[in-house]
Amino acid sequence: MDLEFNPEELQFQQEVRQFLAEKLPPHIVEATARNASVFVEKDLALEWQAILVEQGWAVPQWPVEHGGTDWTPTQKYIFSRECYLAGAPMLIPLGLLMLAPVIMAFGSEEQKREYLPKILSGEHYWCQGYSEPGAGSDLASLKLKAEPDGDDYIVNGSKLWTTHAHLSDHIFCLVRTDSSGRPQQGISFLLIDMDSAGVSVEPIITMAGDHEVNQVFFDNVRVPKVNRIGEENEGWRYAKYLLEFERGGGFSAPRIQHELLRLKQLITDAGEQDPGFDQHGDIQRRLARIEIDLKALEITELRILSAVSGGGNPGPESSILKLNTTRLEQDINELSVDVIGYQGLTMESVPGGSPYRPDFVSSVVPRYLNNRAASIFGGSQEVQRNIIAKLVLGL
Ligand SMILES: Cc1cc2nc3c(=O)[nH]c(=O)nc-3n(C[C@H](O)[C@H](O)[C@H](O)COP(=O)(O)OP(=O)(O)OC[C@H]3O[C@@H](n4cnc5c(N)ncnc54)[C@H](O)[C@@H]3O)c2cc1C
Repeated sequence: MDLEFNPEELQFQQEVRQFLAEKLPPHIVEATARNASVFVEKDLALEWQAILVEQGWAVPQWPVEHGGTDWTPTQKYIFSRECYLAGAPMLIPLGLLMLAPVIMAFGSEEQKREYLPKILSGEHYWCQGYSEPGAGSDLASLKLKAEPDGDDYIVNGSKLWTTHAHLSDHIFCLVRTDSSGRPQQGISFLLIDMDSAGVSVEPIITMAGDHEVNQVFFDNVRVPKVNRIGEENEGWRYAKYLLEFERGGGFSAPRIQHELLRLKQLITDAGEQDPGFDQHGDIQRRLARIEIDLKALEITELRILSAVSGGGNPGPESSILKLNTTRLEQDINELSVDVIGYQGLTMESVPGGSPYRPDFVSSVVPRYLNNRAASIFGGSQEVQRNIIAKLVLGL
C-alpha cells in the first residue's frame, strides 16, 4: 500500500529521514544487515535504544506521560517504515513492548515508577518466563510453583525456551499459586530478579547454531510479594493481555518490506549473473504473491493499530498479524534460499562482511534456519488459527 501522505505527514517523513541520516550509526546498520537472528545483539539494540530515547522517539506506542509520543497512527507507521528502510534494527520488545503495557494497565503506581523508566533507559533487560517443560501451547498447565512465606513467595520449578535469559537481569514469570481450580485459575504474574539466589540458566543451542534460548531453573527462590503484578491467581488475564502485544503490538509490515527489497536485490543479481535464471517465471510468481500478501498485511496492521492508538490493546486480531507476519517472512526466507542457490552452501555469516558479496547474502541461510522457529514462538501457527476461529470469527 502506498499511503497518500498529507503535507504535514510528508514533512514529518523528512524530519525522520534527517534524524536517521544524522544519528543512525553505520556500524549498527552493518550489523543489522548481517544479523540472522530475531533480535540483533543486545549491546547494539541498547545503543540504538539510547539514541532514540535521547530524541524522545524510542517508544512511540507508549502514552506521552511515560515517555511515548503523541503521534498519529500514520506518523508511527512512517517512523517505523523509515527506520527499517534506513537499516535500523528492531528494538528488543520483551520489556519495551510486552511487559511495559502490562505494567501500565495492571501494575501499581509504585511498580510503574520503579520499572517503566528502567525499561525505557535499558537499565533493566527482561526475558519472558511463560513456557515450561509440558506447558507450551497448553500454557495454562504450567507448574512453576510459588508458595507464600510471609511477605515473600518461594519459587520452585523451571521455565523453558527462555529467549535471552542468559543476557537478562530480570524475568517476568507466570507462576502457579493455586492448584485447586481450573488450570487458568491459580496463576500469578511475578517479576523476578535474575540475580536472586537459586536462579540458574542452562543454554539451548538451536539448529541454526545460535545461543538464544535457555532453560531457567528456580531452586527455592525468594521473591517479594510486592513483585506480583495485580491480584494473586489473576495472572492468566494479564498473561493473555501481554500475548496480544507480543503477537501484534507493533508494525511488522515495514520490516518485511525491507526484507522484500533485499530479496529483490538478490533476484536482480541472480538474473544478471545467469540469463537463464527463472526461465519459467516461478520466482516472479512467488515474488508477486509475497507482494500482494504484504499489502494485505499492511492494511490489516494499520487498521488494528489505529484502534490501539486510542490506548486500547490489540485484541485477538493480533493473532491474524502473528500468523501472516510469520508466513510472509518465512516465504521470503525460502525464496531467498532458492534464489542464491549454491551460494547458500556457505552457511556462516562472514564476520566483518564478505569481500565478494553483500553481507546479507551470507545471512540468507542462517536467517532461514533461525526463522523456522517463528511459527512456534509466541504461540504456534495452529494455536493462532484456533484463536482466530474462536475469538475473531466466533466459530
Ligand atoms: C526460538 C524460540 C524462542 C522462544 N522464546 C520463548 C520465550 O522467550 N519465553 C517463553 O515463555 N517461551 C518461549 N518459546 C516457547 C514457545 O512459546 C513454545 O515453544 C510454543 O508455545 C509451543 O509450545 P511447545 O514447544 O510446548 O509445543 P507444543 O505445545 O507441544 O506443540 C507441538 C505442536 O503441536 C501443535 N499443537 C499443540 N496444541 C494444538 C492444538 N490445540 N491445536 C492444533 N495444534 C496444536 C503445535 O502447533 C505444535 O506444532 C520459544 C520457542 C522457540 C522455538
